[in-house]
Amino acid sequence: MQVLQQWRLFAPCSRYGNYVALDPNCLFCKIINGDIPAHIVFRNENVVAFNDIVPQAPTHVLIVPTLHVENAAGLAKMSPTLTADLFVAAGEIAATNGLTGYRTVFNTGAEAGQSVFHAHLHLLGGRGLAWPPG
Ligand code: AMP
Ligand code: ZN
Repeated sequence: MQVLQQWRLFAPCSRYGNYVALDPNCLFCKIINGDIPAHIVFRNENVVAFNDIVPQAPTHVLIVPTLHVENAAGLAKMSPTLTADLFVAAGEIAATNGLTGYRTVFNTGAEAGQSVFHAHLHLLGGRGLAWPPG
């Protein structure tokens, strides 16, 4: 994993020092870094959220930490606070979209459907959501 200079639009990040660890081969790190376009709906120094390119619901947003870590458990181990930041962002994005109910999901491992190995919280809403999930 390469350590890149913190992205230019971010103020220096006190929680993680002056650097953010991004993986130049990771799709979501490229989106965070502005190298690949995405429809960004929320951003602060710790979190970036963008619309899923293959939406599974009228609102389908991916909420990612601005550092590269493979999955939710790894993120929680590294920073419980940053993990919580993803859920706070989910609540704010849901409110902005007028959602009264929504689902948040972390897929971990290919067996569970994880295809991008940078931890990301799916925010789904805007339609009825069945349970149990498929
Ligand atoms: P997961 O399968 O849980 O790893 O989720 C990865 C998600 O990333 C999928 O829902 C994809 O549709 C989505 N995705 C893949 N490429 C892009 C992209 N370039 N921009 C936005 N979302 C993407
Ligand atoms: Zn990454």
